[in-house]
Amino acid sequence: MSKIKIGLMGGTFDPVHYGHMVTAEAARYEFQLDKVIFVPSGHPPHKAGSPVTGAEHRYFMTALAVTSNPNFEVSKVEIDRVGPSYTVDTIKYFLDQYHGEAEVYFITGVDAIREILTWRKVEDLLELCYFIAATRPGYQLWEMHQRLSVLLSHQLERIKTMEVPALAISSTDIRNRVRKGRPIKYLLPELVESYIIKNKLYL
Ligand code: ATP
Ligand code: MG
Repeated sequence: MSKIKIGLMGGTFDPVHYGHMVTAEAARYEFQLDKVIFVPSGHPPHKAGSPVTGAEHRYFMTALAVTSNPNFEVSKVEIDRVGPSYTVDTIKYFLDQYHGEAEVYFITGVDAIREILTWRKVEDLLELCYFIAATRPGYQLWEMHQRLSVLLSHQLERIKTMEVPALAISSTDIRNRVRKGRPIKYLLPELVESYIIKNKLYL
């Protein structure tokens, strides 16, 4: 029996937007994943210093966003974890959940994978799962390839790249738009937009 293929889409999701959704769906299709699980971060270690919206709000928005796709799910694992969240712990958690009967694909934009490739013990991480790096406006694939050159050749196969329709959408821009009263419609799912308005987020 072949293993179930699980995509993990990690992020702050402050808020979740169509750039995330397009990337997750493209990965699901291109790599024939059985499902994609969105994993909102609890206490993002790399975002220490800049304030991040409460985890419950980010979780609810992500839950609203995934309702329209039967192959998408959301997980609270990082939110419920005490202390900082590390990707390696999250990957191990899902591998355990499926008793080793799953292959995990960690989906990121090229900006995020660039950071991951500079982590200590990245070799250990690459033994656990595959990475899918999606193109994102403003970031070049070759910058990622430069960092890849330090890896062993069998580990290079663990990193896949993928073109997605370019959406120059970011959570930072959405937060700024809300603050300035500019529209965010069509940048993110309508349910998420309503949630932001109702809960007066990003003002
Ligand atoms: P912020 O501006 O707060 O950093 P963001 O839009 O970058 O937010 P994150 O939650 O940081 O969103 O990103 C989660 C993951 O989604 C990362 O791997 C990131 O590279 C990827 N991603 C975000 N936006 C896009 C996009 N427009 N196209 C492709 N990938 C994206
Ligand atoms: Mg980001």
